[in-house]
Amino acid sequence: MARQKFVCGNWKLHKTVAEATALVKELAEGLAGDARVQVAVAPVFTSLPAVAQALAGSPIQLAAQDVHWETQGAFTGEVSAPLLADVGVKHVIVGHSERRQFFGETDETVRKKVGAVLAAGLRPIVCVGELLAEREAGRTLDVVGRQVRGGLAGLPSATLAAVTLAYEPVWAIGTGKTATTAQAQEVHAAIRAILRELGGAVADSIRIQYGGSVKPENAAELMSQADVDGALVGGASLKAKDFLAIVKGALR
Ligand code: PEP
Repeated sequence: MARQKFVCGNWKLHKTVAEATALVKELAEGLAGDARVQVAVAPVFTSLPAVAQALAGSPIQLAAQDVHWETQGAFTGEVSAPLLADVGVKHVIVGHSERRQFFGETDETVRKKVGAVLAAGLRPIVCVGELLAEREAGRTLDVVGRQVRGGLAGLPSATLAAVTLAYEPVWAIGTGKTATTAQAQEVHAAIRAILRELGGAVADSIRIQYGGSVKPENAAELMSQADVDGALVGGASLKAKDFLAIVKGALR
């Protein structure tokens, strides 16, 4: 089944409002209304309203990097899914390995966040991926399988259709090391098999992005794999030229 490729830039903790709006303007000009690849960017929370405004009329969509599972209340420092929707966000990255590693994210909190994102009418990008030690111990598929099942537990198959998965081997994030196309395809196919168990035929329409040192030089080859349906891009999404080249790579 043909799935539209989906490339999302994760800007992490980078860029002022002025820098963020300048970057998306360059991206919008570079794409010139071309919507063959679905494209989103995830700036820091403080830039979301300004970036939403700068993106008006462009096919580029707005994403957020995290969310809290409650809608409102005494949760100092948190941002809820309805508040993200209120400023024009369409996608929310959930369970990024940096959240798991530095901020105590677990499969259980991922599951709660996925539920909150979907309840607000937004689309989660659920990140999974193994540590280097787990790969070396031959545990990659176990770890990723547990994260996929844990993060999506209890979702009805109709709802599952709104989810994007991102396979991001932790050893490849920000390190310059990229999974080989064969390593990526193996894990992506395993994820799709789990999605089929969870949701039946809907698994064929769910996009599975690859993330981990994606750059213009490796993007096209990675995304040429049967089950690699796009990319979640960190470092290389901070420069318009590189990010646009990666988006172009999705068309080959
Ligand atoms: C990421 O943060 O999701 C990521 C994949 O980062 P990088 O592209 O820099 O490895």
